[in-house]
Amino acid sequence: MTDPLGAVVVPAEELRERILGLGKEITADYAERPPLLVGVLKGAFMFMSDLARAIDLPVEFDFMAVSSYGSATRTSGVVRIIKDLDLDLTDRHVLIVEDIVDSGLTLAYLRRLLAARQPASLEICALLVKDGLQKSDLDIKYVGFQIPPDFVVGYGLDVGERYRNLPDVVEYLGPPE
Ligand code: 5GP
Repeated sequence: MTDPLGAVVVPAEELRERILGLGKEITADYAERPPLLVGVLKGAFMFMSDLARAIDLPVEFDFMAVSSYGSATRTSGVVRIIKDLDLDLTDRHVLIVEDIVDSGLTLAYLRRLLAARQPASLEICALLVKDGLQKSDLDIKYVGFQIPPDFVVGYGLDVGERYRNLPDVVEYLGPPE
């Protein structure tokens, strides 16, 4: 059976170049206050790894795992924490590293949750932001790419745990799993 994959939305080479650019921006912005990168599992693991290597500062890492209730290709905004952070955020310069923002509900929830832990600063770096679908004003400081509102896989993003290892971000044409 052939994979239900459509057009390449962001090729690996463009990902690489843009992430190097984001790394430079973050390096300049956080020069005096190295950030704590908070990756949102699982989707952001690949982005987090490449972004961190593009930041020329002594960054630290932590991870959260969340899952949104709802069908596989649509989020409901009700977020469940599967794994919380290990580190205390008090007085830290926290940068949330997220794979993709669709409705923005997941990030809005995470931002509220982490802001309540008294970080010195809290910003968001999202690799992919879908056009026109943000329901809340999220104030995302670093955006890799604005993409059309199609469902995509690859570069960390899955459907039913598949396709995370595709080097490109690719449109997914199949049914939700
Ligand atoms: P939001 O809460 O912004 O609507 O959705 C965010 C979460 O839904 C992402 O962290 C991701 O897990 C999932 N998601 C949203 N759009 C896509 C997509 O196009 N592909 C994949 N694989 N996951 C997506």
